[in-house]
Amino acid sequence: MNIHEYQAKQLLHQYGVAVPSGQPCTTVAEAEIAARNIFGSGHGLVVIKSQIHAGGRGKGTFKSGFKGGVKLARSVEEVVDIAGKMLGQVLVTQQTGPEGRLVQTILVAAAEEIKKEFYLAVLLDRAVSRPLIMASTEGGVEIEEVAHHSPEKIFKEWVDPAVGLMPYQTRKLAASLGLKGDLFNQACKLIAGVYKTWWESDAAMVEINPLCVVGTPSGKDALVAVDAKIGLDDNALYRHPEIVKMRDLAEESPLEVEASKHALNYIKLDGNIACLVNGAGLAMATMDIIQHSGGRPANFLDVGGGASKDQVTAAFRIILSDASVEGIFVNIFGGIMDCNVIATGIVAAVRETGLKLPLVVRLEGNNVAIGKQTLAQSGLTIINGDTMADAALKVVAAVANR
Ligand code: GDP
Ligand code: MG
Repeated sequence: MNIHEYQAKQLLHQYGVAVPSGQPCTTVAEAEIAARNIFGSGHGLVVIKSQIHAGGRGKGTFKSGFKGGVKLARSVEEVVDIAGKMLGQVLVTQQTGPEGRLVQTILVAAAEEIKKEFYLAVLLDRAVSRPLIMASTEGGVEIEEVAHHSPEKIFKEWVDPAVGLMPYQTRKLAASLGLKGDLFNQACKLIAGVYKTWWESDAAMVEINPLCVVGTPSGKDALVAVDAKIGLDDNALYRHPEIVKMRDLAEESPLEVEASKHALNYIKLDGNIACLVNGAGLAMATMDIIQHSGGRPANFLDVGGGASKDQVTAAFRIILSDASVEGIFVNIFGGIMDCNVIATGIVAAVRETGLKLPLVVRLEGNNVAIGKQTLAQSGLTIINGDTMADAALKVVAAVANR
């Protein structure tokens, strides 16, 4: 699960990480009040940031033609103007795809003069089974670019999970960023806070890009997390009811949300042949064989090892809500699964949805004879696939001949 920047900053703040003060707003009126407060407290600059679950907002463009999902303003009037141009509009960035994302919330925050931009992230290094802290002097740009062009500018520190992050490690990282004096101390505290956020909230990744040295109204420089991105480990969410409340369903694909309600693993793809499969491995193989036979899979769908008739019906409904689907390939290997449960589910779903598209079914395994009988006796037009390869060729041909 991902959360918005403003939510990530709230979490980081709880662990002592310095973040610019700001307010999430869903209306222009709220943005106006937030801006008044920030200017009123002595700041000369306010930043207005579109809240979507995608990066590259700064360089993004709204479908309206308005440029920039992150904007600076020097007056309340300017904030009001920009807020009106962001809220309710669709922002397209390098990470959203051409369809973009609807901006329903903006973060209105105190913006300071940025003197230096760094990069800081904590993630799990699976190769060594340890948390990894990465820091770089090259902030504000894609870290992949830095890794490609100047890998020597990325500093890495692995943490022994049994011991935890050691003070010498935060000092090493702070020094690698070239920080001295008070900023050095601030960096040590901030890195420890970011690591603690990652550890305590069971995050998959915490990324601060950019982490900035900024000038403050008092004249002293400070180190603050100007941007923040947190991805959580779904398997640990049950331990974090407060974080689960931060979930924004509007940021997730509606079909995937519907699938998760029925405990189905569904991922929409861009082809036209839908597949319904039990088991993730078989689902991957099914997508491969569709592609291999000259077709393009419309989705990944694993109904699990012990799917019920209701789950199969729900799966059909979800597949069919995708307008690009032109044919369906059901590929079931009944190990634990009773083939007749699937067959009964298919028949019910075809009747309920009034299916007109070609449907190819390949059933194998537990109770297959009865399952095939159920399909045959239903009187529905269902194409039987003898093997996986046979079924894949049949569905590709049926879609081509429509
Ligand atoms: P992203 O483009 O989605 O990664 O959004 P960021 O939050 O990283 O913002 C993009 C860029 O806008 C940053 O790299 C900064 O250069 C600039 N920016 C963001 N917040 C501030 C701020 O508070 N003050 C100033 N001066 N610039 C900012
Ligand atoms: Mg950023």
